[in-house]
Amino acid sequence: METKNIGNQTVTFHRYNTVIVGAGAAGMNCALHLCEFMEQKGITDAKNRVAVVTAVLGLGASRMSGSDKQTYYKIGTSPDVPDSAEEFAKSLTAAGCCHGDSALAEGIGSLREFYHLVQVGVPFPHDPMGTYIGYKTDHDPYERATSAGPKTSKFMSECLQKQLKKHDVKIHDRQELAHLLTVGSSQGKRIAGVVTLNKKNKSINVFLGANIVLAAGGPGELYKTTVYPKAQLGIHGLAFKAGLIGANLTESQFGLASIKFRWNVSGTYMQALPRLFSTNAKGKDEKEFLTDFFPSMSKMATNIFLKGYQWPFDPQKIEHLQSSLVDIIVFNETQKGRRVYMDFLHNPIGPCQRQAGAGSDSMDEFSIDALEPEAREYLQKAGALQKTPIERLAHMNTPAIEIYKEHGIDLYSEPLEIAVCAQHNNGGFAVNTWWESNIQHTFIIGEMAGTHGVKRPGGSALNAGQAGGLRAAEYIVNVHGCELADYSDSQSEIDKQLSDIVTGLERYQNPAGLNPKKVLEEIRNRMTASGGHIREMNDAQKALEDAIKLYKDIKEKGFNSKNSKDIITAIQAEHMALTSIGYLKAVVELLKQGSGSRGSHLVLSEDGIEIHPDVIDKATGKPLKFKPENQSLRSTILQIEYDESSPDLFKSETVELRPAPTERKAFEPAWQDYREGKIYGSA
Ligand SMILES: Cc1cc2nc3c(=O)[nH]c(=O)nc-3n(C[C@H](O)[C@H](O)[C@H](O)COP(=O)(O)OP(=O)(O)OC[C@H]3O[C@@H](n4cnc5c(N)ncnc54)[C@H](O)[C@@H]3O)c2cc1C
Repeated sequence: METKNIGNQTVTFHRYNTVIVGAGAAGMNCALHLCEFMEQKGITDAKNRVAVVTAVLGLGASRMSGSDKQTYYKIGTSPDVPDSAEEFAKSLTAAGCCHGDSALAEGIGSLREFYHLVQVGVPFPHDPMGTYIGYKTDHDPYERATSAGPKTSKFMSECLQKQLKKHDVKIHDRQELAHLLTVGSSQGKRIAGVVTLNKKNKSINVFLGANIVLAAGGPGELYKTTVYPKAQLGIHGLAFKAGLIGANLTESQFGLASIKFRWNVSGTYMQALPRLFSTNAKGKDEKEFLTDFFPSMSKMATNIFLKGYQWPFDPQKIEHLQSSLVDIIVFNETQKGRRVYMDFLHNPIGPCQRQAGAGSDSMDEFSIDALEPEAREYLQKAGALQKTPIERLAHMNTPAIEIYKEHGIDLYSEPLEIAVCAQHNNGGFAVNTWWESNIQHTFIIGEMAGTHGVKRPGGSALNAGQAGGLRAAEYIVNVHGCELADYSDSQSEIDKQLSDIVTGLERYQNPAGLNPKKVLEEIRNRMTASGGHIREMNDAQKALEDAIKLYKDIKEKGFNSKNSKDIITAIQAEHMALTSIGYLKAVVELLKQGSGSRGSHLVLSEDGIEIHPDVIDKATGKPLKFKPENQSLRSTILQIEYDESSPDLFKSETVELRPAPTERKAFEPAWQDYREGKIYGSA
């Protein structure tokens, strides 16, 4: 550790071989694997070479998010149903825009990483013979999913952290990322380290690394309506600025989630078949708003049930009264300023208890026997035939009730407010099959890596985070080596950036500057309105222009931070402003390509397909219409890159998909490649 005075600030330098940003399931796993690989090389002091840097150890999606039984999607472990990495990769790539080689690597790494988690103590359930039992999840044709309960990813992070402790690896907590230090240019460019502001004492730290692993998760706080945990911002804006290339950023997932306590309401919450109702903004004037849109109780209740494992909003499941119509109707209701709730004390209610005159008068009383076969048979098989939703939920999944209790919500006595929320970004930053980014020695793993396509099987995010971290750690130790960072030749470049940061912080205390909290609010409102699950060309274009204007305003005026806490908020507001431009640029470019509705977003178009005769466009008074997917784009990925000279501050390009390698070598030549390190030659 060294210190240096830059401007009027003391800056502390830390030097490692690999600096990992983020302490979620992905970051913890990569750190542990680095120690394991280093140990295999005879290195006994991994603790001096590897460090984790994070905003707050207990935050992030892994440690704070989940659902009724948070899913981990892995290769099938059934004793009688065969599965393979190729079949697994096919499921990952099925909806397009997903590289075949990284999907295959996620398949091949899947079981190794799953058993690694079992080994570190994640309580995945198995039967008396040791079989890890699977179940079906969204976009999953097999039963590859497993779960350690509502808090799977929390358990993963904690169990991995416990093992990491044995290696005595330092976790630098409460470090807000302010900048990624770059040295060199074009092919020789490197990210040399990360600059942070200590959230406690506001001191500036520099963590230099010969390798940098970015595992800072998704940009959850980019949206107003979000189920990402509070304070999960990510570092996308900083990464764009450093020159990392974004891929598939348009492909975020949206779906129904509770908003008082941010939690995903998929799986048994929906399969228990609660009543959905709405109220006015003050919580009065209860209404069975769903009944207006379905012809029968059976259809309506079956669709509520299907939301369990058809969780993400999917524009291809709207027409002909499919389950994503529920998301549309919920959103429609909230757009009217009403609030929507799940009520576990009552079954869905038909017209007899509804206000007179609305919807279908032929709707029967709720009955499990009248559900469509898929729902009825599931509940019969699960023995979930109790009279009320809360009894059925308690029968199927008590921990799902307890998690709300832990957060002060008693599902036995109060309804649960929900909305269509941003939950996950399938896109992120472009990586190769070793999860190395377009800048050598910088790796991107977990939700920050853009390895998923337009759709992904539920639970595959956690698998990808583990498989990617393993690959990155293996490559770092075997190819880049374990030496500490040495940027003595680039000290002047580093000092210049640090001095810019120190003077930049003064810009954050300009009385005539912008209010950082208001800036964040503006960004979130815009992203939910124009970059969320419903998109439209003119609106997105206008949002992009407004986002650029805001960023330029920030650059010109700075912020009016009054105290050191505000300065942290100002840092966040500046990089989130750039993040929002990157995301909106991607949205606009994809719309320009004529993409249509795909993944988890709907594109409105006057000459498109009618959503439902009763879902009305407020502006025209006519039914809303959407444009179907342009499937010809499935074989490409839209990438964007920060470019200060572009009018939109970003340039975009479309890249072809990389196929999965099909070459299968015989054992002896493959062994030779392995011994000679040739396996790392092609990425
Ligand atoms: C409600 C919900 C339910 C989900 N359910 C599932 C599921 O069932 N199955 C599945 O596969 N996936 C699910 N996901 C997605 C999955 O949980 C995440 O993609 C995954 O946990 C991300 O892990 P990560 O390690 O990449 O990032 P995270 O766990 O988000 O960790 C990010 C880390 O980076 C740090 N960090 C962030 N920003 C900064 C900053 N500016 N400065 C410094 N540090 C920073 C954070 O403090 C944290 O330590 C769900 C997500 C949500 C929100």
